[in-house]
Amino acid sequence: MTGKIQQIADAVKQCKTVMITSHEGPDGDAIGASLGLAAFLKAIGKDVTVHLADPVPELYRFLPGSDLVTPDIPDQDFDLAFVLDIGEFRRTGSKFCAFTRFNQLINLDHHLTCEEFGHINLIDEKAAATGLLVWRIAKACGFRADYNTAVCLYVAILTDTGSFRYSNANREAFESAGELLEQGGLNAWNIAEKLYESQPRKRIELLALALPTLEFVREGKVASITVLLEMYEKTGAGAELTDGFVNYPRSVAGVDVSIFFRQLEERRFKVGFRSKGTVNVATLARAFGGGGHHNASGGMVDGTLEEVKKIVYGAVDAVQW
Ligand code: 5GP
Ligand code: MN
Repeated sequence: MTGKIQQIADAVKQCKTVMITSHEGPDGDAIGASLGLAAFLKAIGKDVTVHLADPVPELYRFLPGSDLVTPDIPDQDFDLAFVLDIGEFRRTGSKFCAFTRFNQLINLDHHLTCEEFGHINLIDEKAAATGLLVWRIAKACGFRADYNTAVCLYVAILTDTGSFRYSNANREAFESAGELLEQGGLNAWNIAEKLYESQPRKRIELLALALPTLEFVREGKVASITVLLEMYEKTGAGAELTDGFVNYPRSVAGVDVSIFFRQLEERRFKVGFRSKGTVNVATLARAFGGGGHHNASGGMVDGTLEEVKKIVYGAVDAVQW
């Protein structure tokens, strides 16, 4: 692992132009790791472009550099391209999937199921967030975090560990967060306030429509919540405001696996899974063309809600625990 970090640090030192991308429907780690890497690279004099297929959610727009994220790919060659937190290469989106104008492709990830599509693949499922892999590289370059780098990487760690509550919140996560707080002069409460105490009203209105769909199966060990397209219409909220909804069913006593049915089209659902630990939901998601981590994963299923529930509950039923 250290060999690879050194290899990446050397490539970073030698390069001039860098493209950074992450997954569609970006979350706090995708955004924080991408913008944190961009801030670090800019601070050491590199020419950086951050491309994301989808816009930066409102929640993360306070992060420095978020206004420079582009849905386009500029007409130029890059020395390095970084793909972060991806799980599956296709989740970079159609534009990046077709893009080849880089010398070297570096894949930084912490998903159990990630493919090795890069020239260098730094995949460490023990890393609580992809932002931590970025921090390892920055440190290997002898970098002391400035505010911009620190705040982005801190947000990556904070969001991917569920504010240091999940089982991935290990010593590295706590120590790195401490380093970033100190070096970047961060104020933890100010960041928490932006992330957790400034929700748009629409999110709670959408949650109010979603909570009555709460359903328990398999003697209460499995619970689900559903968001339908009509709920977005009623509230004016978008899909990016559903982040975290899947945690409500999981938080109930006795529930081991939580499922989020999120309607994408009339007959298509994104299915998100959360586990309290016993069940490996990454394996479960793979049956639906997806993947993820032991405790958090996702996939896609076609059909009406009734059909999709039947398929997914059936797959969960087949799991031994
Ligand atoms: P979320 O439910 O927050 O969208 O995703 C939970 C976890 O599962 C994240 O780590 C995410 O990257 C992963 N995940 C969600 N959907 C997919 C998918 O379609 N494919 C893969 N490989 N991972 C996914
Ligand atoms: Mn992540």
